[in-house]
Amino acid sequence: MEERVQELKNRLVEIGDLKYAASVLTWDQRTYMPPEGAESRARQVALLQRLAHEKFIDPRVGRLLEDLRSHEESLPYDSDTASLIRVTRRDYQREMKVPADFKAEFDEHMARSYHQWTLARPEDDFGRMVPILEKTLEYSRQYADYFPEKDHIIDPLVSISDEGVTGADLVQLFGELRENLVPMVQAIASQPGPDDSCLYQHFPREKQLAFGLEMAERFGYDLDRGREDLSAHPVTSAFSLSDVRITTRVKEKNLKEALFGTLHEAGHAIYTQNIPSELESTPIGLGATAGVHESQSRFWENLVGRSRPFWEFAYPRLQDIFPDQLRDVPLETFYRAINSVEPSVIRTAADEVTYSLHCAMRFELEMDLLEGRVEVAELPEVWHERSLEYLGVAPEENRDGVLQDMNWYSDRIGGLYQHYTLGNVMSAMWYEAALEAHPEIPDEAAEGQFDTLRRWLTENIHTHGRKFTIPELVERVTGGELTTELYLRYLDTKYSTLYDL
Ligand code: ZN
Repeated sequence: MEERVQELKNRLVEIGDLKYAASVLTWDQRTYMPPEGAESRARQVALLQRLAHEKFIDPRVGRLLEDLRSHEESLPYDSDTASLIRVTRRDYQREMKVPADFKAEFDEHMARSYHQWTLARPEDDFGRMVPILEKTLEYSRQYADYFPEKDHIIDPLVSISDEGVTGADLVQLFGELRENLVPMVQAIASQPGPDDSCLYQHFPREKQLAFGLEMAERFGYDLDRGREDLSAHPVTSAFSLSDVRITTRVKEKNLKEALFGTLHEAGHAIYTQNIPSELESTPIGLGATAGVHESQSRFWENLVGRSRPFWEFAYPRLQDIFPDQLRDVPLETFYRAINSVEPSVIRTAADEVTYSLHCAMRFELEMDLLEGRVEVAELPEVWHERSLEYLGVAPEENRDGVLQDMNWYSDRIGGLYQHYTLGNVMSAMWYEAALEAHPEIPDEAAEGQFDTLRRWLTENIHTHGRKFTIPELVERVTGGELTTELYLRYLDTKYSTLYDL
């Protein structure tokens, strides 16, 4: 049996390395490649991905997984080998259910759709996207039909990125958030906002980058196994567990953009850097799910990076770097400025309180589209109504509404928005559990010490790689089930104080 385990592992590592090689090409495309290189690069990335896919759906992999069934059952559920076999089998079965021709057709359609969206958005021309989005919806439904055992049409679409979470779970989760956050946002909007003008002075690029990276390193981002570059959209790319890179973008008139973007990406990178090296290049040598990944990035960006203890330590350092801009700005003013809540129509610019409402709206629209309650052509109107209802503001143009995010235009419809919110919800659960084990964490943060916290995350989350689904991981870490309670309590406590609610 050991030989077969080894053969399976060797095959999987080759596949993982092909995917890592494709990541190098994609990272280069986002950072340094001259624009004319795009066409050849797309072909080269597609080739590596196709080779990886072909190697994975090889019948030999299926036979090995069958032969190893009883061996897997004889091992502890959380052992490396049992987990490797179990998770690979799940991936394999998913791949085998969807015919290759359908996949190729769907991919081709999405490439065309993305291209059309890049033209339609600047022109504010949703009409052009209607037939394309209708086709995407049809493909998304058809994809779900390959999984007849599902309870809800969205389930197979969600499990592509967040294994173990169902549509029914998400209906409840978003419902609870909406019920609590809509009144909270209304209450906040009726209060005078803080003066956040201190964030919009001139902050030279190099100094911004240096400060962000210094803080990321303090959190535990290892620069011997990572680096930072600039790109249009911040992203984390791994080429192995020992080479995990982040990118950021800087606006010299906005201190928040690069800083919180860097802390966010560093959270993703710290997660990957701390997955055990024995799991490298295998299907379990990755983050657990997209939502769990966001629970790490948002943890460092928000729960730590926008907290008072962290800034008690970091603010004097920031003032040293930008004396002319911040010398006369008290810590309290700065803290209120970075935590200002302002309902806006743009999701990526949203604050902690309104962010989940943007996602709730999009998830609910995915459900409405998949279930046929809303037609594609009705989207602009429904978008407008819901935005008013949830956030109190609505976009004037489709480019800031239904055309705003590339997600539905570059991928499927269904399962594209829950991971941000799952990340928020889980980050609060992790923080509570970490505090229970180590009540000294906030005091240490105020001293600039994050080792206890980072180690707790590694021992409880990073070390498992992709062995567990979301419910399994939540149960292991907290002893309970996924709940919005702690996240809502965190927001309520923090923002009631900030806004005198
Ligand atoms: Zn992220």
